[in-house]
Amino acid sequence: MDAVRVDHQNTDHAKWVLVDWTLGTTCNFRCSYCPPSLHDGRLSFPQYDRITQFARTLTQHYRKLDRSVFVQFTGGEVSLYSQLPAVLTDLNEIGVLCGLISNGSRGPAYWSQLSELLNSVVLTHHIEFANLDRFRAVAELLSERIRTHIQITMLPTRFGECLERAFAIRTACPRATIGLKPLRMGFGSKLYSYTPEQLAIMRRSPVPPARDLIQGGVRGLMQLKDEENVETLSAARILAWGLNRWQGWLCSAGLELLAITAEGDVYRGLCREGGCLGNINSTVILPTKHIVCGRPSCTCLADIMTTKVRRLRNS
Ligand code: SF4
Ligand code: SF4
Repeated sequence: MDAVRVDHQNTDHAKWVLVDWTLGTTCNFRCSYCPPSLHDGRLSFPQYDRITQFARTLTQHYRKLDRSVFVQFTGGEVSLYSQLPAVLTDLNEIGVLCGLISNGSRGPAYWSQLSELLNSVVLTHHIEFANLDRFRAVAELLSERIRTHIQITMLPTRFGECLERAFAIRTACPRATIGLKPLRMGFGSKLYSYTPEQLAIMRRSPVPPARDLIQGGVRGLMQLKDEENVETLSAARILAWGLNRWQGWLCSAGLELLAITAEGDVYRGLCREGGCLGNINSTVILPTKHIVCGRPSCTCLADIMTTKVRRLRNS
């Protein structure tokens, strides 16, 4: 497939900026494939007024670009942050839509309350630590209330078990989208050494699609277009197919996507292309234009889901 243009399937994509916001490095899991710096607890959860103040700055900037702000908090494990409900309440009040990426380890009672404040959630199933019954109960509860995406991290040495769990979760949660997420070594650009059969399964994605999906999600699948064809793929499948290469293309990172690290540094995307834009505790120069991608590959799922356009001659 030779794509000349890549777009989000979600027709609302041009109206939003997704802010991938890392809150600290505290986590209750120790996944073998996760770099310690992401879960060692060295960076604690931030003061909640710093978050709400910068969220206001974001809404003012992106309003001028005709975009609304959707903040997706991640960690570490954000459900361990005691001030999270207060943060979400404040953000809801200033018109910011909120989502989370979580390992789903808190129980259904916790999620039942939090779901009122969330637009969507991404639950990542980590087979080395997740309790399947608890994860499934949480996923079932959330997917009946809000847009829910479940990523199954496909550990090569327990690939069959991961796949079985994906099917078990599909049965319990017909309304959730489910992706088989290929793992990258040290969360870098190189995939773990999967067998050809394992790669073929992740590319094909045999888990049946969601039924009766709750509408209103901000980020959809990706459309890979050329002059004749349009192919719709999830970011995980783009990664499994190795189609994640857009060096020299015009990319919307910074317009559709912003990434904030646990230290408060702000970048256009998780790829950090274009360099640091500042820190939320001092000054940040927020982008107003696209950027030309200089990277040989685009590896994080949120980055992959950002619109890219090949620059055509004379355009
Ligand atoms: S749950 Fe996430 S942050 Fe925690 S150890 Fe696993 S991969 Fe790392
Ligand atoms: S690596 Fe960054 S700049 Fe390049 S295509 Fe991906 S998101 Fe865009």
